[in-house]
Amino acid sequence: MINRIGIDLGGTKTEIMLTEEDPQNVLKRKRIATQQERGYEFIINQLFELINDYLQYCHQCPLIGIGIPGSINQKTGLVRNSNTICLNGKPLKSDLESRLNFSISVENDANCFALSEALLGAGKGKETVIGLIMGTGMGGGIVRNGKIWNGLHGIAGEFGHTSIDYNGRDCWCGEKGCLERYISGTAVEQQYEISSGKRLKLDAIYRQYEAGNDETARLVIDDLLNHFSRGIANINTAFDPDIIVIGGGVSNIPLLYTRGADQIRKQTFSDECFTPIVKNSLGDSSGIFGAALLPG
Ligand SMILES: [Zn+2]
Repeated sequence: MINRIGIDLGGTKTEIMLTEEDPQNVLKRKRIATQQERGYEFIINQLFELINDYLQYCHQCPLIGIGIPGSINQKTGLVRNSNTICLNGKPLKSDLESRLNFSISVENDANCFALSEALLGAGKGKETVIGLIMGTGMGGGIVRNGKIWNGLHGIAGEFGHTSIDYNGRDCWCGEKGCLERYISGTAVEQQYEISSGKRLKLDAIYRQYEAGNDETARLVIDDLLNHFSRGIANINTAFDPDIIVIGGGVSNIPLLYTRGADQIRKQTFSDECFTPIVKNSLGDSSGIFGAALLPG
């Protein structure tokens, strides 16, 4: 029997999961702190030890997939665009492979999200699935016929860094007006703080919005919905997918799927539009299931 090992390497938590060949049959699962402040070598050692520990439960060489923040430059093999900064410029895949003595798959975490939702979650049975994570940042992935579509440079699906305003808000990537700066959870919290002087988490801002007596919350959530529909209507018109699945903290806002989805349908360049815009169905587990699904 072949086993799978999936790892979700997050900015704060790292999770490992051992499954049977069917990743839905989970055998073991463990979550630890990433401790990225301790640096790249520490992370590599920690990943190696986690995998090594689970190898004792495998009858033969397992299929191993790791989802990481950022992506791997396909020419140089080096990590880039990661907000776990110590990974950038490092050959994470080859460093781990040389310690393990077998090959592993490494993929962008939003691509892992899209893959698991396409094969096991809300997009199951659909040909073209677009997955969007609206959390600390904004990531995305495109899955066609059960496979991640990486593109020429391995950046396909990075919708968070497509600009919707060339004079817009500054983004850490060096551009202005990136979608991430308007519809990530971080962006909503920042806008609320700029307008009100108060620092609130996204769920608290949304509760204020629902209570109906916080003008700043109303403006900020309206702004989120307007930018969400504008950005996602662009994606919908460009790709015309069979479904769009939303993840991350912002996906818990029910208005995305009512008012937001209605606006997307109006703004999509088509005389009719029935693209389902839905919340993910695997929750926090979508990343790790996607990682386990990568190889093979
Ligand atoms: Zn950007």
